Amino acid sequence: MRPFVYELLPGRVVFGSGTIARLSVELDALEASRVVLISDNMAKSEADRIESDLGERVVGRINEIEPHVPIEEVEAARRLADDCQANAVVTIGGGSTTGVGKAIVLDRELAFLAIPTTYAGSEMTPVYGITAGEVKRTGRDPRVKPKTVVYDVDLTLGLPREVTAGSTMNALAHCVEALYAQERNPIVSIMALEGAKALKRGSVIVAGDPGDVEGRSDLLYGAFLAGASLGAVGMAIHHRICHVLGGTFGLAHGDANAVILPHVVAYNREAEPEVMAALADALGVVDPALGLRELAETIGAPTSLSDLGIREPDLDKATEMIVEGRGYNPRPVEREWIRQLLEDAFAGRPPSTH
Ligand code: NAD
Repeated sequence: MRPFVYELLPGRVVFGSGTIARLSVELDALEASRVVLISDNMAKSEADRIESDLGERVVGRINEIEPHVPIEEVEAARRLADDCQANAVVTIGGGSTTGVGKAIVLDRELAFLAIPTTYAGSEMTPVYGITAGEVKRTGRDPRVKPKTVVYDVDLTLGLPREVTAGSTMNALAHCVEALYAQERNPIVSIMALEGAKALKRGSVIVAGDPGDVEGRSDLLYGAFLAGASLGAVGMAIHHRICHVLGGTFGLAHGDANAVILPHVVAYNREAEPEVMAALADALGVVDPALGLRELAETIGAPTSLSDLGIREPDLDKATEMIVEGRGYNPRPVEREWIRQLLEDAFAGRPPSTH
């Protein structure tokens, strides 16, 4: 018997194709009459369409988003919400855009509806991250979880290949770490395995045909399950490594995930044999670490940190920051291992097989 505690999180999810047409109805249900609409540059034209549909209900707009939720951007967004006397925030975009919405509602009582356009999964979690100076701090607060999430597969059909690949690996990382998280529970494990299966299936289809609706639907469905898993249980060392690489060294979150995940799975493999067997089964591979590395190669995700902008001398500082962080991992986190992992990941070596 493995005892567990599982706290179910509230929230409404609308999933499908063309679901954005329901936006007005969903906002009525939230009594959202004065909306600040936040998008990144890539989702701007979609945000323009939303504004023209919603008319005067949109009282403020933000169209440019920096990655990793810088504090200056958060403060400006909060000021805008105050100045417009907004009672709701709508975000459309990737995890960075959702992150700005979360940072606003962290200390403002506004309704929050998120429309994700990547596979980051942030929309399903009560976790927020804000970068101040060089350090990204994360926290957990139920207030930041969007009240409603509208998943519209159509919005993801044009997601560029490189963003698709990194973002898919990010979602897979949520499924993987949910399986061996300290707070794991049977329902979340079922979701995480189903998510991994859908992500694998969709990613292979979409690598061959980026506009395939069924493949894109698998990816978005997998990303939803991955985000819900991440929101329900804590994560482990993989996420700590990626937050340091993103927050301090500026690596794109999805890309960092793609490179690091196979190495972390290799490290944790022997500490969690049952989990790894179930993961291998869900991915349809013999060895989950090698399988994830092969998948990254197949879908065109990066496999080497040296391609992502971090310099070799930075690896020492990154090692210290990762080791100093706290948090659970099924296998104790050792400095030498982290340093070796970063070196292997920098050089683009495959994950160790023992
Ligand atoms: P992102 O939001 O920075 O987007 C990545 C790139 O994709 C950007 O250049 C963006 O303009 C582009 N893009 C987004 N949607 C597009 C579309 N439909 N078409 C074309 N281009 C598009 O990155 P992300 O990977 O979505 O999210 C990463 C961020 O989310 C990180 O800051 C990460 O820490 C955070 N995150 C948070 C949680 C959480 O629970 N709090 C979970 C996962 C990720």
